[in-house]
Amino acid sequence: MTIAENLHTIENGIAETAKEYDRDPASIKLIAVSKRHSMDSINEATRAGQFLFGENYIQEASEKIKTAHKNAAFHFIGHIQSNKAKQASELFSMIETVDRYKLARSLNTHLEKLDKQLDILIQVNIGQDPNKSGVSPEKTAELLEQIKSLKQLRPLGLMTIPPLTRDSNMARIHFRNLRILSVDLAKQNLFANNDCVELSMGMSHDYKIAIQEGATIIRIGTAIFGKRPERT
Ligand SMILES: *Cc1c(COP(=O)(O)O)cnc(C)c1O
Repeated sequence: MTIAENLHTIENGIAETAKEYDRDPASIKLIAVSKRHSMDSINEATRAGQFLFGENYIQEASEKIKTAHKNAAFHFIGHIQSNKAKQASELFSMIETVDRYKLARSLNTHLEKLDKQLDILIQVNIGQDPNKSGVSPEKTAELLEQIKSLKQLRPLGLMTIPPLTRDSNMARIHFRNLRILSVDLAKQNLFANNDCVELSMGMSHDYKIAIQEGATIIRIGTAIFGKRPERT
């Protein structure tokens, strides 16, 4: 299957699932996760009409962004060290993985110098998985409260990577819990737009469940680009 065909399959999957659950397919953004895939693959996707990408490594992303189509936009979805905040604040249209105040503050400092506002999501460790980054659900309100004073950051919603499981019901429960948390936080006016909160959840194997549970951003790699090459 070509990348264009895979994209077509996913777009149909999004449209069908949205329709079944009475959701507008246009309210669901597809991030093509291109980490470790070549520029050729990214260009093939843009030729097929896909302009939103997700990358996990700053250095790799920076090289790709230089040569990507001018309308392509990149979300950062990887773990981000505070000393990479300067580069990250320059490169991405959204950073989905803000999970601590120190990082938020250094992003804000660099963005002030650039006179730029940046959309961010808070990464929540919804399954309390010790191997995953993300703020714990109980501490998310406190983090968003602290971020209120950082004027260059626009917290638009939440992102999560649930613990890996073969049990799709478990994934569903985690997605549902993220949504419930987001509703609670929106009631406290903790987002930049509390009427329309973004939920980034769902990957190749579980994106339909995520859409059923309210995802507005899904992040798909393997089902678009195929198996990832090993890191060299
Ligand atoms: C790699 C990655 C994805 C894509 O995973 P696939 O299973 O290949 O679709 C999505 N989200 C994050 C945070 C990732 O690191």
